[in-house]
Order: sequence, then structure tokens, then C-alpha cells
Amino acid sequence: KTNVMWFRRDLRVFDNIALARAIENSNKILFVFHIDTYQLEKQPTVNQSSFFASVQQFKKHLKEQNIDLQIFYGELKDMFDYIKKQVPNWHDLYFNCDEHGYGSERDQDITKYCQENLHIRVHAAIDYNLHSAYEIKKPDGHYYQVFTPYFKRWMTLVKPKPIAIDLASISQEHLAFSTLEQDTMLSGLIYEQHSYAYDNQIGEGKARQVLSDFIENKLAQYDQNRDVPSLNATSHLSRYLRTGEISIRTVYEAVRQSPDSDGRATFIKELCWRDYYNMIYATHPQQNESAIRPEFRQVRWRDDKIEFDDWQTGHTGFPIVDAAMRQLNATGWMHNRLRMVVASFLTKDLLINWQWGEAYFKQKLVDYDPASNIGGWQWAASTGTDSVPYFRIFNPTLQSKKFDPDGLFIKKYVPELKDLPSTKIHEPSKLSLIEQRRYQVTIGHDYPKPIVDHKMARISAIAAYEQSKANS
Ligand code: FAD
Repeated sequence: KTNVMWFRRDLRVFDNIALARAIENSNKILFVFHIDTYQLEKQPTVNQSSFFASVQQFKKHLKEQNIDLQIFYGELKDMFDYIKKQVPNWHDLYFNCDEHGYGSERDQDITKYCQENLHIRVHAAIDYNLHSAYEIKKPDGHYYQVFTPYFKRWMTLVKPKPIAIDLASISQEHLAFSTLEQDTMLSGLIYEQHSYAYDNQIGEGKARQVLSDFIENKLAQYDQNRDVPSLNATSHLSRYLRTGEISIRTVYEAVRQSPDSDGRATFIKELCWRDYYNMIYATHPQQNESAIRPEFRQVRWRDDKIEFDDWQTGHTGFPIVDAAMRQLNATGWMHNRLRMVVASFLTKDLLINWQWGEAYFKQKLVDYDPASNIGGWQWAASTGTDSVPYFRIFNPTLQSKKFDPDGLFIKKYVPELKDLPSTKIHEPSKLSLIEQRRYQVTIGHDYPKPIVDHKMARISAIAAYEQSKANS
């Protein structure tokens, strides 16, 4: 009998739960990936393109081991009908399921279809998180709404261990489906080629290398250095976790086995945020459409397209915000501290709807994950479950002085300011004309004046949030 293994955002062989179960059940496996037309963006995006670059890499990697990843395009149900016709002895379907959003609805729909129409047994595994969205509850049976108590409980639970998988035992089912056609179809979706993928740093092997380099060189100091963007002290594992090129169990276990340090403890806490936001998304399914906190659903956002464009392109006149946005535009990734800074700036200083920012990140991030992105945005916009209070507003200039004191990060992405000393780089609008000449930058020409006055914007934002509260 033949089993079908349906890959989605789990583009790896090692430590793949659904694949391990499929192999346990039969050594004859058909590997499939479906390109979901519903999910395809109308305009090419970095997010989508970099994901398909990883699919392409995965297909190549499997090919080296004599395994074909069959790629289908079109209606999902048609794919399963086709497989059933081609492979009459197919009885079991394996995949790692989604716990929220469109993915979860699709999984339920397909499960029903395969069971009822094709008489297939469906085996859906939880693979994407250390703990499932529905696993951790408060003693009163409700889901947690606050991170710290969730984290305390999370820490007490045993984590699943990685599973080794031996591909050598697999014998493949071949389909009469042109591989050339599949390759062309896939290449057509990789618009940006690999330029956003950290100089070709993609694939299962690379992901494991990134993990071991991080553990060896950065983990022990992670607690001290992780907030300083110029130090590049975080793991950069997010893009591999998003595509599934590495599993969360492999990451957790390797970190757990490394020597004890404050860096290790802090890093493990970050991994918990990923589970936490997965739980929040699954238990607040409406959070994609609106603020979780009802009292902030009436905030009167400013629909200022010009300022939104300045923010997107990194021309706000606040160097740390501009450097961060330019890092995103250039690399498809942004440092976590800066994601908080730019999200706060958009929602509080510009009073622009967090959903605009979320949508822009969705297009641009190579590590785009709906639960973490929406969770991060709702946190910054003070609309999430336990977000930053609406009256505690980041001052972008103070954030800049604190986390990029020498302006090294700013200089990397805002070359107009490269000659400024660290005492001047955080507020270039304060340069005198003589200084502008000395540092070869004309404010308002080479680099913009601030598009907003932070002090005034802060007062307006607090008023807008209080107005919403009063109206709710
Ligand atoms: P590290 O610091 O090395 O952390 C290790 C891993 O822990 C990360 O790869 C990630 O899986 C997890 N993690 C760390 N911080 C968080 C967090 N706050 N929330 C959830 N998981 C976390 N992360 C995404 O993976 N995809 C997103 O789309 C995303 N959007 C965000 C939007 C905003 C507005 C904010 C404030 C944060 C967002 N994050 C998102 C969380 C975080 O910024 C990234 O996970 C992190 O910067 C990725 O870099 P890294 O792998 O080097 O992180």
C-alpha cells in the first residue's frame, strides 16, 4: 500500500512528525506539495517568492536522494482525486496540520473530503509548535491571556524530542506527471530569485548549520546582546522555522543540551513566545480582522497614504525607524527590537492602523508567520491580550540612543548619515547649517526632516485611544 505525505510548511525530512508516521505505516510513499491558488498573492511578494525558493531547494534536496517531490497546482481536491486515480492502493494521507486561520479550515475540509469521497484515512500531526495551541490551559480551564503565567506553565511541561528519519528505507510511488512542467511552474513563482534569502542560505542543511553556529558563537551572550541590532546577535532561525526547514523540536533540544547560561534561558523564553502567539491566534480567530481588545476597536486611525509611504520606504526623518525599514526592504528580515520600534511608530506616532503595517510585513518578511506577526502588531498597537499599555509610547529617539548608541546600525542602512558622529546621528534635524556642511548632509534634501513631532503625536495617540475606550 502507498501512503501520501502532503508537505506544506514543513519542508524537511529530518524530524518531521507526519513523515515519520507515514514511514512507520508503509515504506511506499508519495511525496506531494500543492500550490494553493487561493493563497497566491496577486502581486509577487518577497514572502511568497522566498517560500517557493525553499520549496525548490527541498525538491532538489529530495532529488539528490532519488525522491521526487510531486508539485501540483490548481484545485486541491482535484489533486487528491488525481492521486486516487493514479494510485488505487492509496489508503492513508499524512500531513502536519495548521491550528488556525485559512490553513486550519482547509485541513478540516480536505479531511472530510478524503474520508467521505475517497475513503482515505487521514492522519494530521501537530508539528509546528512545541505545544499545541489547545494544550496549555489555566487551572480554571480557560486559555491564558497573559504571557508570564503561560510561560511558567509552559516551562513545567516536557517537550517532544526530535525524531530521526531514514529515507533509505523508502520506496517511491512514481506518477506519470511531467517534472519539467512542475519545475517551470515553480520557477515562475520565484520572482526575486534568492536575493532575499540571505545569499542562498536556504535548505534543511543550511538551517541546521545556522542553528549550530548560533549555539556555538552567540547563545551564551544572547541575553545581553539580542536587543542591539548592530551586533547581529540573534539566531536568524525564524525563516527556517517558518518554512519548516528546521523543526522547533530540533532547535529546542540542541539549545537545551548546550551549557546552562542566562543567554540560553532568555532564548528558550523567546521560543515560548512563538507557542504563545500560536495559542492566542487559535483561540482568538477574529484577531486577523480586528483588535482583540474591544475597547480599542473604535480608534480613529489616520488614513495617511503619504506618511505610510514614508514609513514603508524608510523616509520618516527618524534614523532608527528608517534604518529598520530599509533593512526589511533590503533583506526580508528585521531585528525584533526594531520591529517593535517601527510598529509603535506607525501606530502611535503616525496613528496609522496596525493592519496596514501587518499587511506590509506580510509582503516583505521571509519569516512571515501570521500568528507571530499579528501577535507582534497587536502587542505594539496595544490592542492585543497583554500588549504594551496604550499610554506607554516608545520614544523613537530614546530607543535609538539606547539600542544603537554609536549609530552603527543606522549608518549601515542610512548611508546619507554615515559621516555623523554618534552624538548627532539620532536627531539629524537638530544639526546646525555649519554642521550639515561639515557632515555633508542637507536635512530636508539628502535626508528628510521628521515627518511628525513625537511629543505632539504622543498626546494625540493617547487621546485617540481614550476616545475609543469612551465610545466602546
Ligand atoms: P531570535 O531572537 O533568535 O529568536 C528565536 C526564535 O524565537 C525566533 O526565530 C522566533 O521563532 C521566536 N521568537 C522570538 N521572538 C518572538 C516573538 N516576539 N514572537 C514570536 N516568536 C518569537 N516572528 C516571526 O517569526 N514571523 C513574523 O511574521 C513576525 N512578525 C513580527 C511583527 C512584529 C510587529 C513584532 C514586534 C515581532 C514579530 N516577530 C515575528 C517576532 C520576532 O521579531 C522574530 O521572531 C525575530 O525577530 C526573528 O529573528 P530571530 O530568528 O533571529 O530571533
